[in-house]
Amino acid sequence: MSFTAPPPSPAPTAPLTWVAQHEDDTARLAQRLAAAMRAHPAWADALLTLRGDLGAGKTTLVRHLLRALGVSGRIKSPTYALVEPYTLPALGQPPLPAWHADLYRFDHPREWEDAGLRELFASAGLKLVEWPEKAGDLLPMPDLDLHFHLDGDDTRRIVLTASTPRGAALRDALA
Ligand code: ADP
Ligand code: MG
Repeated sequence: MSFTAPPPSPAPTAPLTWVAQHEDDTARLAQRLAAAMRAHPAWADALLTLRGDLGAGKTTLVRHLLRALGVSGRIKSPTYALVEPYTLPALGQPPLPAWHADLYRFDHPREWEDAGLRELFASAGLKLVEWPEKAGDLLPMPDLDLHFHLDGDDTRRIVLTASTPRGAALRDALA
C-alpha cells in the first residue's frame, strides 16, 4: 500500500522572492505593486518596510513606485530629512498621502515624537520605510516587508513577507 500526501499548499504567510537581474526588473516589481494599489486603493493605506544593505536598491524601488503612483517632482533620498512627504495623484480624491522615510540616522526615541513620526505612522497613507530596524519597536507591524539581497553586480533578490491580510493581498497580486 502506498500513501501519497497532497503537495503542501502555500501558507498565507509564505514569502515571495522576486529576482531582479537589472534595475528594470526592480522597476517592474514597483509597477506591479502600483497597479495593485491603483486597482485596490485601500491596499495603499499600508506600511511597507524595505531592508537590506546600503546600495541594495531600496530607494530605487521607492522611486519607481512613487513614479508609478503619479508623483512627478523630484524624489530625493530622505537620509538627512528622515522623511519626505508626497501625495499620490493616482490614488483617490483627495489624493492619498505618502511618506518615504529613511531611518538610517535615527538614533533616539525622542526623535520619534520630535520629527512627528508617531503621528505619521498613526495616520492614513502609504508609508515606505528604509532601515525599519533602527526604530526598534516604535514602528508598527509592517503590512509587507521587502528584504533586498545583493546577488551580483546588478542582481537583487527581493524577498517579500506579508504580516497582515493587506500585505498578503499586495504580495499575492504580484505572483
Ligand atoms: P539603497 O536605498 O538600498 O541604499 P539605492 O536604491 O540608493 O540603494 O541604490 C541602488 C543602486 O544600485 C542604484 O545605483 C541602482 O541604479 C543600482 N542597481 C543596480 N541593479 C539594480 C537592481 N537590480 N535593482 C535596484 N537597483 C539596482
Ligand atoms: Mg536608500
